[in-house]
Amino acid sequence: QQDDGVTPTVVMWFRRDLRLADLPALHAAAADGRRVVPLFVVDPAFASAGVGRRAFMRAALMALDASMERALVYRHGRPEDVVPAFAAEVGASAVYVTQEHTPYGRRRDALVGSRLSVDGRRLVGVGSHYAVNPGSVSKADGTPYGVFTPFCKQWRAHGWSAPAGIPEVDWYGAPAIHCEGPPPEIADELIPAAAREFHDESSAWARWESWLPEAARYHETRDLMALDGTSRLSAALRWGVVHPRQLLADLDERPDRTRGHEVLGNELGWREFYADVLFHKPHTAWSNLNPRMDAMPVDTDEDARRRFAAWTAGMTGYPVIDAAMRQLRATGWMHNRARMLVASFLVKDLHLPWQWGARHFMQHLCDGDLASNSHGWQWTAGTGTDAAPFFRVFNPITQGLRFDADGEYVRRWVPELAGRSGGSAHQPGGSLLDGYPDPIVDHAREREESLARYKMVTSARG
Ligand code: FAD
Repeated sequence: QQDDGVTPTVVMWFRRDLRLADLPALHAAAADGRRVVPLFVVDPAFASAGVGRRAFMRAALMALDASMERALVYRHGRPEDVVPAFAAEVGASAVYVTQEHTPYGRRRDALVGSRLSVDGRRLVGVGSHYAVNPGSVSKADGTPYGVFTPFCKQWRAHGWSAPAGIPEVDWYGAPAIHCEGPPPEIADELIPAAAREFHDESSAWARWESWLPEAARYHETRDLMALDGTSRLSAALRWGVVHPRQLLADLDERPDRTRGHEVLGNELGWREFYADVLFHKPHTAWSNLNPRMDAMPVDTDEDARRRFAAWTAGMTGYPVIDAAMRQLRATGWMHNRARMLVASFLVKDLHLPWQWGARHFMQHLCDGDLASNSHGWQWTAGTGTDAAPFFRVFNPITQGLRFDADGEYVRRWVPELAGRSGGSAHQPGGSLLDGYPDPIVDHAREREESLARYKMVTSARG
């Protein structure tokens, strides 16, 4: 296509909304037959992101580009420099985006918006990455919720619009417009398995369709770590390959709707809840939501770092913890029950700051998401929402026995245990674990230590 200088032109700046279906910003951009220039800015701020996120994002971008006949224009640099210059270059009156609610995204968009306005251009934010925009659900007195269940009730009552399809778009992009090329390639051996699947709309939807019959039993299977009992669409959701509104519509409209479908919908509600909490309290990305827990003593000395290294390597001597940490390294994804167990172990058995674990997760997860990750960690650490009691300490042995009864999960991810059968794969000292490293800490003792530290905080509070 040529720039005819007549057809009104706008830019659609993609960020973490890497799809064409049900994308309100794209519908708005393409309205009235406007010509749409698709842009992705390779932001140097993202270069330090973990390999899981970089790999998934790159794969999702390749797929998005293919779905628009390679029209996507890549430019490299700081968005506040690149976007206004690009809009001027292509003669666009406005730049359309999906609204961001994270601390960095909000700062960036405010800056880009003000730079664009110098030239009389507009940054137009439409929709969000959530069924209900963060900040839209509040208590009767207008304050935000800090507890999930009432939030969820109100969130459902607020409701969301039905998904929209793919709009008719008059793309005007590469090769007519100079393209600087996608983000740097990642060595094949570094690409985690979770970045190799469900990064394009068709495979994500194929997964959803094929897994949906299982979702009827989600409430029973979601905690069993060896099963394919969850959607595994978290990275696709994180990068906007699918939108939660689309999934919720499928769940809510089912004639055969079961308890499983309802519970799965609520899990999507947790994602929205955490985004809402972070929106209202951006500092909770890396600080305690509950400031009283700031007084909780944590270990950061040489020995603490040694324990942390054993945790990250999956060498704690507790099979379920080791399996989970190795699943993360090997695939860029970890089962939710396993995330809770390793987080509890780091905080309550190793007495380390939750932020150490949260950072490690962000380095490896393809679905790494600031709101869900930091608040998932804070929930487990007892510093966050829902007043999850600190003194509820997960026991890695009994949790393993309960949610991986026949040891299939640990055998899959801990090769040292792979060929063994019989006995319990979770009981240290049991015959199955002959030769397996001894636990680096004694759970019963560390549980007592954690409770003693907690008591100090609560009694100091008076
Ligand atoms: P499903 O069970 O199929 O659930 C469907 C979707 O609902 C998920 O894809 C996810 O978007 C959402 N969801 C489910 N459970 C939760 C939850 N507890 N909190 C928020 N959203 C949820 N999720 C992330 O997407 N990114 C993270 O960085 C992240 N970090 C976490 C850290 C910790 C310590 C914990 C305990 C949980 C974390 N979670 C995170 C939440 C959850 O573990 C994952 O969303 C889930 O395991 C993804 O697998 P799935 O897609 O098969 O989930």
